[in-house]
Amino acid sequence: MKIDILTIFPDFFRGPLDYGIVRKAREAGLAEIEVHDLRAYAHDRHHTVDDRPFGGGEGMVLKPEPIFECIEGMNIQPLAARSAGKTKQSVVLLSAQGRRFDQGVAAELAGLEQIVLICGRYEGVDERVGQHLADRELSIGDYVLSGGELGAAVILDAVTRLIPGAVGNEASTRQESFTAVTQAVAGDGPDSTCSSGGLLDYPHYTRPADFRGLQVPEVLVSGNHEEIRRWRRRTALEKTLRNRPDLLDRAALGDEDKELLARITGRDT
Ligand code: SAH
Repeated sequence: MKIDILTIFPDFFRGPLDYGIVRKAREAGLAEIEVHDLRAYAHDRHHTVDDRPFGGGEGMVLKPEPIFECIEGMNIQPLAARSAGKTKQSVVLLSAQGRRFDQGVAAELAGLEQIVLICGRYEGVDERVGQHLADRELSIGDYVLSGGELGAAVILDAVTRLIPGAVGNEASTRQESFTAVTQAVAGDGPDSTCSSGGLLDYPHYTRPADFRGLQVPEVLVSGNHEEIRRWRRRTALEKTLRNRPDLLDRAALGDEDKELLARITGRDT
């Protein structure tokens, strides 16, 4: 997979690209990540990438020319083909006004061959970029950041770890928080710990079993795999109910889940 990032602060990505799974995926040739400095596409003496907003008002707006020119040099299919899903490419504008990025979008992007991430700054990006160049606008959450770089780093991390081979044990990316059943591999039913079925992940523990008197749950050291599976499912349901009840409406719940949930809520009331 190729990931291109357009930014006026290319050095920003030194950290996010150089650690852990993203670094390994790059070194293994699973992900090629290229950071493009937008100033290199601004041809005036001062390499101007921003200008004042038409209609007046505060701040500056990123100009369209450097962004269009950079992407036009990249062998990217026309907007119509991308929007119709006829290509394995996507040009993404990072924007607080975008559709919310989530694990489902990450899985969708991980199935593509090339994604381009355009990072805005200042008051934002000239709207013609969003309308005539990008095929989608994505937001990483309901808050305003000062630039798209952190959002791009979030997206490239979440997407890269879903590229087959990027994470050592592939099953581990399927049993994590948010992973919907449709993204899981056939055979991992929603009741199985091998797919979160759209719930939050279950709690994890490691050695020591006794940390300052805090014991790990007995069942986890019991060796009883069926009991462990049920415990994990129950605690995943409990945590989801407590922290993200909205996810339960969309989660694929099996009969066992419904039974567990009834017991949990029954105990709560
Ligand atoms: N005036 C805009 C905010 C601009 S912030 C508004 O009110 O919506 C500057 C840049 O930061 C944006 O162009 C975008 O690229 C990035 N950005 C800000 N918040 C973001 C978010 N929640 N998700 C993704 N990108 C964001």
